[in-house]
Amino acid sequence: MSKMGEISLDTVDILTRKTALGLTPPDLSFVIPAYNEADTIAETLRRVARKAQELAARSEILVIDDGSADDTVAIIQGGHWELPVRLLRLSRNFGKEQAIMAGLRHSTGRAVVILDADLQEPLHYIDTMLEKYREGYEIVYAVRAHRDDESWLKRRFTAAFYRFLNTGSEVQIPAGARDFRLMDRKVVDALCALPESNRFMKGLYAWVGFRSLAIPVELAPRGGGNSKFNFARLLHLGMTGLTAFTDWPLRMWTGIGMVLASLSILYGLFLAVRTMIFGHDIAGWSTLAVAIFFFSGIQLVSIGVLGEYLARVFNEVKGRPGYLIAENVTIPAEAEC
Ligand code: UDP
Ligand code: MG
Repeated sequence: MSKMGEISLDTVDILTRKTALGLTPPDLSFVIPAYNEADTIAETLRRVARKAQELAARSEILVIDDGSADDTVAIIQGGHWELPVRLLRLSRNFGKEQAIMAGLRHSTGRAVVILDADLQEPLHYIDTMLEKYREGYEIVYAVRAHRDDESWLKRRFTAAFYRFLNTGSEVQIPAGARDFRLMDRKVVDALCALPESNRFMKGLYAWVGFRSLAIPVELAPRGGGNSKFNFARLLHLGMTGLTAFTDWPLRMWTGIGMVLASLSILYGLFLAVRTMIFGHDIAGWSTLAVAIFFFSGIQLVSIGVLGEYLARVFNEVKGRPGYLIAENVTIPAEAEC
């Protein structure tokens, strides 16, 4: 425990709060990242409050506003909720991974549920998650039962990405896994204690290990608004995942370089022998030009790969926190007002 405290100030804070005199941690925490979810946040909170009362005697609801530019914050602050709602407002948009981490770090429950604020994830699955948790699983996570709602291109891209990612990675990261999951406190503490600030959560859930179980879920269509993950964001998240969990893209250039060098030597020998037998000719400019283009291309790609990993190291070395909290308030439940 003290080791975790040394790593992250936030973790110390949680531990102090948890062990403070007479403070019993809630049974269940709900962590909900929200970015421009004005259309759906109110209904999400209503449903979660109902579910929380049904499942646990003591629970807490945390919404992390990830720098929304719409009315999300006003709706949360002005709402009349059945349970108190803790609002963590991040100082700007830091991305879903960071919003989740902010929520996890401030959660105090014995078990924590992460879910989206867009009504896509039917809450009755939490009953199953809790049941499996009581059977002894420390992580119970949702996997998409199918990807029929996604375009053919996106499905192919995702499949290729996970194949790439899982090649040579020390842990297998399941392809259809969601952030929608229930985790035991010790898993949450382990995630909070990891020092890296650029996070690919799906990889980290797999990396921390623990007894895990996947349950297939049928997602509902978004309750309103649009998906926040466009192609550029997905690509960025994908690069974070690749550089965090694989190193073969970095290492493979040694092999490629050796193969190409060996082939060049063989070609050189062939040219030498041919000149000795048939004499010298000055043809072959096109071969030369193609070879120059090809090898320059290969070199640029390999430098690019190096750059991606270097960028990750650079970002980590800067040591900036993954997010900043601008506001941390609890909106009391309606009955308490
Ligand atoms: N989200 C966030 N920060 C972001 C992007 C998304 O907190 O920068 C939240 C978003 O509000 C939602 C969840 O992450 O609650 C999932 O986002 P979305 O529904 O857009 O993703 P998809 O379901 O399309 O993968
Ligand atoms: Mg969604």
